[in-house]
Amino acid sequence: EDVNANLVLNKIQHGGDEADGDKVDLAEQSLLNKLIRRSLVKNRNQVEVQQADPSSPLFSVKTFQELRLKPELLQGVFTMGFNRPSRIQENALPMMLAEPRQNLIAQSQSGTGKTAAFSLAMLSHVNPDNNWTQCLCVAPTYELALQIGQVIELMGKFCPNVKLAYAIRGSRMERGVKLQEQIVIGTPGTVLDWCTKYKLIDPKKITMFVLDEADVMIAMQGHRDQSIRIHRLLNKSCQMLLFSATFEDSVMKFAERVISEPNIIRLKREEETLDTIKQFYVLCREKEDKFTALCNLYGCLTIAQAMIFCHTRKMAGWLAASLIKEGHQVALLSGEMTVEQRANVIERFRNGNEKVLVTTNVCSRGIDVEQVSLVVNFDLPVDMEGNADNETYLHRIGRTGRFGRRGFAVNMVDSKRSMDIITHIEMHFNRKITKLDTSNLEEME
Ligand code: ADP
Repeated sequence: EDVNANLVLNKIQHGGDEADGDKVDLAEQSLLNKLIRRSLVKNRNQVEVQQADPSSPLFSVKTFQELRLKPELLQGVFTMGFNRPSRIQENALPMMLAEPRQNLIAQSQSGTGKTAAFSLAMLSHVNPDNNWTQCLCVAPTYELALQIGQVIELMGKFCPNVKLAYAIRGSRMERGVKLQEQIVIGTPGTVLDWCTKYKLIDPKKITMFVLDEADVMIAMQGHRDQSIRIHRLLNKSCQMLLFSATFEDSVMKFAERVISEPNIIRLKREEETLDTIKQFYVLCREKEDKFTALCNLYGCLTIAQAMIFCHTRKMAGWLAASLIKEGHQVALLSGEMTVEQRANVIERFRNGNEKVLVTTNVCSRGIDVEQVSLVVNFDLPVDMEGNADNETYLHRIGRTGRFGRRGFAVNMVDSKRSMDIITHIEMHFNRKITKLDTSNLEEME
């Protein structure tokens, strides 16, 4: 608690007035998701498969045994606690392991098993008797490369002859001496150096190339170009695999440029819905008044966990400090915290160490905290022009009331302008937002 309280105080001293919304770092977001992810993301949607050759039979597997993996690899998979393939893995794994080799573009949201899938494919692909690099995997950042490496090391625990090297900043290598590791994973710049400048890898001997987090990669201009340059060094016959959490046109254009005759597998994100959520608004004057209203909601805060959204770091810091003063156990997520600090805060909140999480929007993007049953918009979600941001609203509220559970959303309205925003959101989703009197909370029962 003390650590957290100190963090909170720190935030208050250094907290900015500006919206915490413009500094979304995709690579950091992705790392945060990985750090806090403990299991597969639930997704009931159907996988869409588009085959390069529609006349070839389409295989999918329901068990890992069907893949006829080397026994030591299968043992690794089971030791990780994977009992059966995830949705995306059911189709992606047989495709990646098939002969003749096929190229693949796969898209599904973070947490659906992509990394595990291509790690398995690489481990299965390499010939451990050949002491040269056969699989090359590029990821956007040092930290993300390490995360993938950890999965490969765990899964390959019983494959002692398969070795892995990290092509990341700080790895000092002797020029011209070829690596013996069968798998190399790294960031585009270092991988490119290792192939060209240092000649540690013979790109013509690479038979499987994995490009992970393509959407993050192309958002980083240098990475995009370097990835294309690496790709050009490879043989045409090299198997190309590309993964992405999102599937905008820009990602697809890039993917098709790098990958010829691809199979495409997509698992659409499960739609967020407001159907199981009761929405309210509370009329308030200024922030102190909002704070009082929030404290009146405390009855609800104790029965479950709550997330409270603020617009600025400064407001989030003030609110967290005020709640702590009232004796509440509060966690605070704020933009200037490191990814590790944020992962730690989320982990504690998930474990129930704190009942309330105060956050700015940017910090919480993409984070699912399923046990949250109350979401409070201390500040309403607005875009740069100050208009209602429906998408963010849905995303904030949609995290409660998931999987059939009932959830509550409470919006603090402090001006005519914010009342207009509520009306707008109400019309947009065609769902009633009811006025709530926080001194009489029977309506919430
Ligand atoms: P992504 O790369 O799509 O973000 P990951 O491969 O990192 O997804 O998987 C997300 C989480 O699910 C990880 O904690 C991973 O260990 C776990 N996981 C992956 N595949 C399976 C599986 N078949 N069964 C159970 N858990 C799995």
